[in-house]
Amino acid sequence: MRNGMTHLFIPGPTNVPEAVRRAMNVPMQDHRAPDFPELTLPLFDDLKQVFGMTGGRVFCYPGSGTGAWEAAITNTLNRGDKVLMSRFGQFSHLWVDMAERLGLDVICVDVEWGRGVPAYDYEFFLSKDDSIKAVFATHNETATGVTSDVAAVRQAMDTCGSDALLFVDGVSSIASIDFQQDAWGVDLAVTGSQKGLMLPAGLAMLAVSDKALEAAKSSTMERCYFDFADMIKTNDLGYFPYTPPVPLLHGLRASLDLLFDEGLPQVFARHHRLAEGVRRGVHALGLQLCAAGPEWYSDTVSAIKVPEHVDGAEVCRIGYERYRTSFGGGLSQVAGKVFRIGHLGDLNDVSCLAALAGAEMSLADAGADIELGAGVAAAQEYYRKANAGFAPETPAASSVGTAVSR
Ligand SMILES: *Cc1c(COP(=O)(O)O)cnc(C)c1O
Repeated sequence: MRNGMTHLFIPGPTNVPEAVRRAMNVPMQDHRAPDFPELTLPLFDDLKQVFGMTGGRVFCYPGSGTGAWEAAITNTLNRGDKVLMSRFGQFSHLWVDMAERLGLDVICVDVEWGRGVPAYDYEFFLSKDDSIKAVFATHNETATGVTSDVAAVRQAMDTCGSDALLFVDGVSSIASIDFQQDAWGVDLAVTGSQKGLMLPAGLAMLAVSDKALEAAKSSTMERCYFDFADMIKTNDLGYFPYTPPVPLLHGLRASLDLLFDEGLPQVFARHHRLAEGVRRGVHALGLQLCAAGPEWYSDTVSAIKVPEHVDGAEVCRIGYERYRTSFGGGLSQVAGKVFRIGHLGDLNDVSCLAALAGAEMSLADAGADIELGAGVAAAQEYYRKANAGFAPETPAASSVGTAVSR
Protein backbone atom coordinates (compact mmCIF):
# COMPACT_ATOMS: atom_id res chain seq x y z
CA MET A 1 0.00 0.00 0.00
CA ARG A 2 1.90 3.05 -1.17
CA ASN A 3 -0.86 5.61 -1.44
CA GLY A 4 -1.73 8.20 1.15
CA MET A 5 0.48 9.01 4.08
CA THR A 6 2.25 6.83 6.60
CA HIS A 7 0.40 7.39 9.85
CA LEU A 8 2.60 8.24 12.79
CA PHE A 9 1.20 7.35 16.20
CA ILE A 10 4.41 7.02 18.14
CA PRO A 11 5.16 9.17 21.18
CA GLY A 12 7.96 11.02 19.43
CA PRO A 13 9.01 12.09 16.98
CA THR A 14 5.52 13.42 16.48
CA ASN A 15 3.88 14.79 13.35
CA VAL A 16 5.35 18.10 12.22
CA PRO A 17 2.62 20.54 11.16
CA GLU A 18 2.83 21.86 7.60
CA ALA A 19 3.37 25.44 8.83
CA VAL A 20 6.34 24.30 10.91
CA ARG A 21 7.85 22.27 8.06
CA ARG A 22 7.63 25.26 5.76
CA ALA A 23 9.11 27.61 8.36
CA MET A 24 12.19 25.38 8.51
CA ASN A 25 12.74 25.49 4.77
CA VAL A 26 15.03 28.53 4.82
CA PRO A 27 18.33 29.36 3.17
CA MET A 28 21.24 29.07 5.59
CA GLN A 29 22.00 32.29 7.38
CA ASP A 30 24.76 33.79 9.46
CA HIS A 31 24.21 32.94 13.12
CA ARG A 32 26.49 35.82 14.06
CA ALA A 33 24.60 38.38 11.97
CA PRO A 34 23.46 41.58 13.72
CA ASP A 35 19.77 40.71 13.32
CA PHE A 36 20.04 37.08 14.54
CA PRO A 37 18.94 38.00 18.11
CA GLU A 38 15.59 39.12 16.68
CA LEU A 39 14.90 35.43 16.14
CA THR A 40 16.48 34.01 19.29
CA LEU A 41 15.68 36.39 22.15
CA PRO A 42 11.88 36.09 21.79
CA LEU A 43 12.26 32.29 21.59
CA PHE A 44 13.94 32.17 25.01
CA ASP A 45 11.18 34.35 26.48
CA ASP A 46 8.35 32.41 24.87
CA LEU A 47 9.75 29.06 25.94
CA LYS A 48 9.56 30.25 29.54
CA GLN A 49 5.81 30.53 29.10
CA VAL A 50 5.65 26.93 27.90
CA PHE A 51 7.56 25.80 31.00
CA GLY A 52 5.32 27.94 33.25
CA MET A 53 8.12 30.09 34.63
CA THR A 54 8.94 33.76 35.00
CA GLY A 55 12.41 33.82 36.64
CA GLY A 56 15.41 31.66 35.84
CA ARG A 57 16.32 30.96 32.24
CA VAL A 58 15.85 28.57 29.37
CA PHE A 59 18.69 26.94 27.46
CA CYS A 60 18.41 25.47 23.96
CA TYR A 61 21.23 23.08 23.12
CA PRO A 62 21.71 21.36 19.81
CA GLY A 63 20.93 17.83 20.97
CA SER A 64 18.11 15.52 21.97
CA GLY A 65 16.35 15.23 25.32
CA THR A 66 19.09 12.98 26.65
CA GLY A 67 21.57 15.83 26.15
CA ALA A 68 19.41 18.09 28.28
CA TRP A 69 19.43 15.43 31.05
CA GLU A 70 23.23 15.53 30.95
CA ALA A 71 23.37 19.32 30.87
CA ALA A 72 21.09 19.51 33.91
CA ILE A 73 23.20 17.11 35.98
CA THR A 74 26.70 18.19 35.01
CA ASN A 75 26.03 21.89 35.54
CA THR A 76 24.53 21.73 38.99
CA LEU A 77 25.81 18.67 40.89
CA ASN A 78 29.10 17.27 42.09
CA ARG A 79 30.56 13.80 41.72
CA GLY A 80 29.44 11.64 44.66
CA ASP A 81 26.37 13.74 45.44
CA LYS A 82 23.54 11.72 46.90
CA VAL A 83 20.40 11.92 44.74
CA LEU A 84 16.93 10.40 45.01
CA MET A 85 15.42 8.84 41.89
CA SER A 86 12.74 6.34 40.93
CA ARG A 87 12.46 3.83 38.12
CA PHE A 88 9.22 2.58 36.59
CA GLY A 89 9.82 2.44 32.85
CA GLN A 90 12.54 2.62 30.23
CA PHE A 91 13.00 6.40 30.36
CA SER A 92 13.22 6.69 34.14
CA HIS A 93 15.57 3.69 33.97
CA LEU A 94 17.86 5.45 31.50
CA TRP A 95 18.00 8.58 33.64
CA VAL A 96 19.08 6.50 36.66
CA ASP A 97 21.69 4.84 34.46
CA MET A 98 23.05 8.23 33.36
CA ALA A 99 23.20 9.53 36.93
CA GLU A 100 25.18 6.47 38.00
CA ARG A 101 27.53 6.72 35.04
CA LEU A 102 28.17 10.38 35.83
CA GLY A 103 29.27 9.39 39.32
CA LEU A 104 26.27 10.35 41.44
CA ASP A 105 25.39 8.33 44.53
CA VAL A 106 21.89 7.22 43.51
CA ILE A 107 19.16 6.09 45.87
CA CYS A 108 16.77 4.47 43.39
CA VAL A 109 13.23 3.53 44.36
CA ASP A 110 12.02 0.76 42.07
CA VAL A 111 8.32 0.97 41.37
CA GLU A 112 6.10 -1.52 39.57
CA TRP A 113 5.81 -0.49 35.90
CA GLY A 114 2.38 1.09 35.48
CA ARG A 115 2.75 3.42 38.45
CA GLY A 116 4.79 6.60 38.72
CA VAL A 117 6.93 8.69 41.03
CA PRO A 118 6.37 7.45 44.61
CA ALA A 119 6.03 10.79 46.41
CA TYR A 120 5.24 8.99 49.66
CA ASP A 121 8.47 6.95 49.53
CA TYR A 122 10.37 10.09 48.60
CA GLU A 123 9.07 11.70 51.78
CA PHE A 124 10.34 8.71 53.77
CA PHE A 125 13.86 8.97 52.32
CA LEU A 126 14.00 12.76 52.57
CA SER A 127 12.85 12.74 56.19
CA LYS A 128 15.69 10.50 57.32
CA ASP A 129 18.48 11.90 55.17
CA ASP A 130 19.16 15.61 54.81
CA SER A 131 22.25 15.06 52.67
CA ILE A 132 20.19 14.37 49.52
CA LYS A 133 21.24 17.02 46.99
CA ALA A 134 18.74 16.38 44.23
CA VAL A 135 15.37 14.73 43.69
CA PHE A 136 14.43 13.42 40.24
CA ALA A 137 10.98 12.89 38.78
CA THR A 138 9.96 11.61 35.36
CA HIS A 139 6.78 13.59 34.77
CA ASN A 140 5.52 11.40 31.95
CA GLU A 141 6.96 7.89 31.59
CA THR A 142 6.64 7.36 27.86
CA ALA A 143 7.27 3.61 28.02
CA THR A 144 4.24 2.86 30.19
CA GLY A 145 1.93 5.83 29.57
CA VAL A 146 2.10 7.03 33.17
CA THR A 147 1.95 10.65 34.35
CA SER A 148 3.19 11.52 37.83
CA ASP A 149 2.22 14.28 40.21
CA VAL A 150 5.18 16.66 40.32
CA ALA A 151 3.42 18.99 42.78
CA ALA A 152 3.21 16.05 45.21
CA VAL A 153 6.97 15.54 44.93
CA ARG A 154 7.54 19.22 45.71
CA GLN A 155 5.19 18.90 48.66
CA ALA A 156 7.11 15.88 50.01
CA MET A 157 10.34 17.91 49.74
CA ASP A 158 8.81 20.90 51.51
CA THR A 159 7.32 18.72 54.26
CA CYS A 160 10.81 17.42 55.02
CA GLY A 161 12.41 20.86 54.73
CA SER A 162 14.61 19.53 51.92
CA ASP A 163 16.67 22.09 50.03
CA ALA A 164 17.56 19.60 47.29
CA LEU A 165 17.19 20.60 43.64
CA LEU A 166 14.13 19.18 41.89
CA PHE A 167 14.89 17.73 38.43
CA VAL A 168 11.98 16.87 36.16
CA ASP A 169 12.00 14.97 32.87
CA GLY A 170 9.21 16.62 30.92
CA VAL A 171 10.28 15.36 27.50
CA SER A 172 6.91 13.78 26.67
CA SER A 173 4.73 16.12 28.73
CA ILE A 174 5.85 19.71 28.23
CA ALA A 175 3.70 21.61 25.73
CA SER A 176 1.07 18.82 25.84
CA ILE A 177 0.24 18.31 29.52
CA ASP A 178 0.08 21.14 32.04
CA PHE A 179 3.53 21.93 33.41
CA GLN A 180 4.28 24.57 36.07
CA GLN A 181 7.96 25.16 36.73
CA ASP A 182 7.30 28.00 39.21
CA ALA A 183 4.21 26.68 40.96
CA TRP A 184 5.74 23.21 41.44
CA GLY A 185 9.13 24.58 42.47
CA VAL A 186 10.94 22.72 39.70
CA ASP A 187 14.64 23.62 39.43
CA LEU A 188 15.61 21.85 36.22
CA ALA A 189 13.01 20.78 33.66
CA VAL A 190 14.11 18.94 30.56
CA THR A 191 12.48 18.58 27.17
CA GLY A 192 13.30 17.83 23.56
CA SER A 193 11.96 19.32 20.34
CA GLN A 194 10.40 16.19 18.80
CA LYS A 195 7.45 15.60 21.12
CA GLY A 196 4.98 18.24 22.30
CA LEU A 197 6.80 20.95 20.35
CA MET A 198 6.09 19.13 17.06
CA LEU A 199 9.58 19.58 15.58
CA PRO A 200 12.21 17.15 14.38
CA ALA A 201 14.65 15.99 17.07
CA GLY A 202 17.63 18.30 17.48
CA LEU A 203 16.90 20.83 20.20
CA ALA A 204 17.47 19.89 23.83
CA MET A 205 15.68 22.38 26.03
CA LEU A 206 16.24 23.02 29.68
CA ALA A 207 14.39 25.35 32.05
CA VAL A 208 16.53 26.34 35.01
CA SER A 209 15.45 28.08 38.21
CA ASP A 210 17.46 30.89 39.82
CA LYS A 211 18.38 28.47 42.60
CA ALA A 212 19.82 25.98 40.09
CA LEU A 213 21.69 28.78 38.28
CA GLU A 214 23.26 29.67 41.60
CA ALA A 215 24.20 26.02 42.24
CA ALA A 216 25.86 25.92 38.81
CA LYS A 217 28.38 28.55 39.94
CA SER A 218 29.95 26.18 42.47
CA SER A 219 29.31 22.80 40.83
CA THR A 220 32.54 21.02 39.99
CA MET A 221 31.47 18.31 37.57
CA GLU A 222 33.41 18.19 34.30
CA ARG A 223 31.50 19.81 31.46
CA CYS A 224 32.34 21.81 28.38
CA TYR A 225 29.85 21.64 25.51
CA PHE A 226 26.89 21.94 27.90
CA ASP A 227 28.37 24.55 30.22
CA PHE A 228 25.72 27.02 31.41
CA ALA A 229 28.28 29.83 31.82
CA ASP A 230 29.33 29.73 28.14
CA MET A 231 25.69 29.66 27.06
CA ILE A 232 24.70 32.54 29.34
CA LYS A 233 27.50 34.78 28.04
CA THR A 234 26.38 34.45 24.43
CA ASN A 235 22.62 33.83 24.93
CA ASP A 236 22.26 37.12 26.78
CA LEU A 237 23.07 38.85 23.50
CA GLY A 238 20.98 36.44 21.42
CA TYR A 239 23.87 34.27 20.22
CA PHE A 240 25.25 30.81 20.89
CA PRO A 241 28.77 29.66 21.88
CA TYR A 242 28.75 27.39 18.80
CA THR A 243 26.65 26.87 15.67
CA PRO A 244 22.96 26.46 16.50
CA PRO A 245 20.59 24.48 14.23
CA VAL A 246 19.06 27.59 12.68
CA PRO A 247 16.23 25.93 10.71
CA LEU A 248 15.06 24.26 13.92
CA LEU A 249 14.94 27.64 15.61
CA HIS A 250 12.71 28.92 12.80
CA GLY A 251 10.58 25.81 13.24
CA LEU A 252 10.40 26.46 16.97
CA ARG A 253 9.13 29.98 16.24
CA ALA A 254 6.34 28.53 14.10
CA SER A 255 5.50 25.81 16.59
CA LEU A 256 5.30 28.26 19.50
CA ASP A 257 3.05 30.49 17.39
CA LEU A 258 0.72 27.54 16.77
CA LEU A 259 0.65 26.65 20.47
CA PHE A 260 -0.03 30.23 21.55
CA ASP A 261 -2.68 30.72 18.84
CA GLU A 262 -4.55 27.69 20.15
CA GLY A 263 -3.80 28.71 23.76
CA LEU A 264 -1.85 26.49 26.15
CA PRO A 265 -4.91 25.61 28.30
CA GLN A 266 -6.73 24.61 25.10
CA VAL A 267 -3.75 22.55 23.96
CA PHE A 268 -3.79 20.66 27.29
CA ALA A 269 -7.58 20.20 27.08
CA ARG A 270 -7.27 18.85 23.53
CA HIS A 271 -4.63 16.34 24.60
CA HIS A 272 -6.86 15.25 27.44
CA ARG A 273 -9.83 14.80 25.10
CA LEU A 274 -7.79 12.87 22.52
CA ALA A 275 -6.33 10.62 25.20
CA GLU A 276 -9.66 9.97 26.87
CA GLY A 277 -11.19 8.88 23.55
CA VAL A 278 -8.32 6.47 22.95
CA ARG A 279 -8.66 5.07 26.49
CA ARG A 280 -12.39 4.51 26.03
CA GLY A 281 -11.68 2.77 22.74
CA VAL A 282 -9.09 0.52 24.38
CA HIS A 283 -11.46 -0.42 27.19
CA ALA A 284 -14.33 -1.04 24.77
CA LEU A 285 -12.09 -3.60 23.03
CA GLY A 286 -11.76 -5.41 26.35
CA LEU A 287 -8.09 -4.42 26.66
CA GLN A 288 -6.28 -2.85 29.58
CA LEU A 289 -3.73 -0.06 29.84
CA CYS A 290 -0.33 -0.56 31.37
CA ALA A 291 -1.09 2.44 33.65
CA ALA A 292 -2.34 0.89 36.89
CA GLY A 293 -5.24 3.29 37.44
CA PRO A 294 -6.85 6.53 36.29
CA GLU A 295 -4.61 8.57 38.60
CA TRP A 296 -1.65 7.50 36.44
CA TYR A 297 -3.23 7.88 32.98
CA SER A 298 -1.10 9.84 30.54
CA ASP A 299 -2.68 12.29 28.14
CA THR A 300 0.18 11.95 25.65
CA VAL A 301 0.68 8.20 25.27
CA SER A 302 -1.28 5.04 26.02
CA ALA A 303 0.58 1.76 26.52
CA ILE A 304 -1.94 -0.97 25.79
CA LYS A 305 -1.54 -4.50 27.11
CA VAL A 306 -2.04 -7.12 24.41
CA PRO A 307 -3.91 -10.35 25.21
CA GLU A 308 -1.75 -13.16 26.63
CA HIS A 309 -1.21 -15.12 23.38
CA VAL A 310 -0.62 -12.02 21.22
CA ASP A 311 2.81 -10.49 20.58
CA GLY A 312 2.83 -6.69 20.89
CA ALA A 313 5.81 -6.47 18.51
CA GLU A 314 3.76 -8.35 15.92
CA VAL A 315 0.94 -5.80 16.30
CA CYS A 316 3.43 -3.02 15.50
CA ARG A 317 4.98 -4.92 12.60
CA ILE A 318 1.58 -5.62 11.02
CA GLY A 319 0.45 -2.03 11.59
CA TYR A 320 3.51 -0.76 9.77
CA GLU A 321 3.73 -3.29 6.94
CA ARG A 322 0.07 -3.82 6.11
CA TYR A 323 -1.50 -0.53 7.12
CA ARG A 324 1.38 1.97 6.97
CA THR A 325 0.69 2.94 10.54
CA SER A 326 3.42 3.28 13.14
CA PHE A 327 2.70 2.42 16.75
CA GLY A 328 5.22 2.42 19.57
CA GLY A 329 6.51 -0.96 20.65
CA GLY A 330 6.96 -2.24 24.17
CA LEU A 331 10.37 -1.40 25.64
CA SER A 332 12.52 -3.56 27.89
CA GLN A 333 10.40 -5.15 30.68
CA VAL A 334 7.18 -4.77 28.68
CA ALA A 335 8.60 -5.74 25.26
CA GLY A 336 6.00 -7.84 23.42
CA LYS A 337 3.48 -7.26 26.21
CA VAL A 338 2.27 -3.82 25.16
CA PHE A 339 2.07 -1.60 22.14
CA ARG A 340 1.73 2.16 22.41
CA ILE A 341 -0.39 4.79 20.76
CA GLY A 342 1.22 8.20 20.95
CA HIS A 343 -1.49 10.86 20.98
CA LEU A 344 0.49 14.05 21.33
CA GLY A 345 1.30 16.91 19.05
CA ASP A 346 -0.41 17.83 15.83
CA LEU A 347 -3.45 15.52 16.09
CA ASN A 348 -7.23 15.80 16.27
CA ASP A 349 -10.16 13.54 17.12
CA VAL A 350 -10.27 11.90 13.69
CA SER A 351 -6.51 11.22 13.79
CA CYS A 352 -7.10 9.26 16.97
CA LEU A 353 -10.00 7.37 15.40
CA ALA A 354 -7.62 6.36 12.61
CA ALA A 355 -5.12 5.20 15.23
CA LEU A 356 -7.76 3.05 16.89
CA ALA A 357 -8.99 1.67 13.55
CA GLY A 358 -5.44 0.71 12.55
CA ALA A 359 -4.79 -0.76 15.99
CA GLU A 360 -7.95 -2.88 15.79
CA MET A 361 -6.98 -4.34 12.41
CA SER A 362 -3.40 -4.98 13.53
CA LEU A 363 -4.55 -6.60 16.76
CA ALA A 364 -7.05 -8.83 14.98
CA ASP A 365 -4.45 -9.84 12.37
CA ALA A 366 -2.02 -10.66 15.19
CA GLY A 367 -4.58 -13.05 16.64
CA ALA A 368 -6.42 -10.95 19.22
CA ASP A 369 -10.06 -11.84 19.74
CA ILE A 370 -11.60 -8.38 19.46
CA GLU A 371 -14.70 -6.95 17.86
CA LEU A 372 -13.65 -4.76 14.93
CA GLY A 373 -15.06 -1.27 15.27
CA ALA A 374 -15.88 -1.50 18.99
CA GLY A 375 -12.98 0.73 20.01
CA VAL A 376 -13.58 3.23 17.24
CA ALA A 377 -17.29 3.42 18.12
CA ALA A 378 -16.62 4.10 21.80
CA ALA A 379 -14.16 6.86 20.92
CA GLN A 380 -16.57 8.36 18.37
CA GLU A 381 -19.26 8.45 21.00
CA TYR A 382 -16.94 10.19 23.44
CA TYR A 383 -15.57 12.72 20.91
CA ARG A 384 -19.07 13.65 19.78
CA LYS A 385 -20.19 14.28 23.35
CA ALA A 386 -16.95 16.02 24.34
CA ASN A 387 -17.20 18.41 21.39
CA ALA A 388 -20.83 19.14 22.20
CA GLY A 389 -19.74 19.77 25.79
CA PHE A 390 -21.55 17.00 27.61
CA ALA A 391 -19.15 14.08 27.93
CA PRO A 392 -19.09 12.40 31.33
CA GLU A 393 -15.66 12.70 32.92
CA THR A 394 -13.68 9.83 34.43
CA PRO A 395 -11.95 10.31 37.82
CA ALA A 396 -8.62 10.95 36.08
CA ALA A 397 -10.30 13.34 33.72
CA SER A 398 -11.58 15.56 36.50
CA SER A 399 -8.19 15.71 38.24
CA VAL A 400 -6.50 16.67 34.97
CA GLY A 401 -9.25 19.22 34.51
CA THR A 402 -8.27 20.99 37.73
CA ALA A 403 -4.62 20.98 36.75
CA VAL A 404 -5.50 22.64 33.46
CA SER A 405 -7.62 25.36 34.97
CA ARG A 406 -5.02 26.29 37.59
C1 LIG B 1 11.79 10.71 24.37
C2 LIG B 1 12.10 10.77 25.81
C3 LIG B 1 13.40 10.95 26.28
C4 LIG B 1 14.63 10.89 25.41
O1 LIG B 1 14.72 11.91 24.57
P1 LIG B 1 15.68 11.87 23.31
O2 LIG B 1 15.26 13.12 22.65
O3 LIG B 1 15.37 10.64 22.53
O4 LIG B 1 17.07 11.91 23.81
C5 LIG B 1 13.59 11.11 27.64
N1 LIG B 1 12.57 11.04 28.50
C6 LIG B 1 11.32 10.84 28.09
C7 LIG B 1 10.23 10.79 29.10
C8 LIG B 1 11.04 10.69 26.74
O5 LIG B 1 9.79 10.49 26.33
